[in-house]
Amino acid sequence: MTGARRDGDDPRLEAILTALCADGGRATVQRRIVVSALLAGPRHVTAEELAATVQARHPDIATSTIYRTLEALDRQGVVQHAHLGHGPAVYHLNDTDHLHLVCESCGHVIEVPGSAYEAFARLLAEDYGFRVAPHHFAVQGRCGACAAEPGLPQRGGAVGA
Ligand SMILES: [Zn+2]
Ligand SMILES: [Zn+2]
Ligand SMILES: [Zn+2]
Repeated sequence: MTGARRDGDDPRLEAILTALCADGGRATVQRRIVVSALLAGPRHVTAEELAATVQARHPDIATSTIYRTLEALDRQGVVQHAHLGHGPAVYHLNDTDHLHLVCESCGHVIEVPGSAYEAFARLLAEDYGFRVAPHHFAVQGRCGACAAEPGLPQRGGAVGA
């Protein structure tokens, strides 16, 4: 993949746009460009980062157009956004059911399958009638490496009783 691939060459792009149309959405030029930038880029990008990537190749597309396109794709279920911390939300393609664990110390993001939440989600549904949307906000904590680091305060880490 050294520059040989261009917009439209990624087979996933056509599949995503076909699904979008089947859902009653329109595969506009802007949507095609935004989805293809998401496919090519890092897994999680802020709207601002995505706009910069798109405008590097398509300087004629206004930032507000890119934001609106992202929001429309979010409503259509093609992309999802997640809040990983205090900063702006990040967007990712809605291709795999995953949740985010974010390390409060080093910022490392771990993706875990949605099934990891199943037991907790079932408990909340059964006992409280509450349906969680666990992908929307990240679970905060400390990654394995940071938790093992000496000198950092260990919270609630009473090991062995
Ligand atoms: Zn949100
Ligand atoms: Zn994600
Ligand atoms: Zn960490």
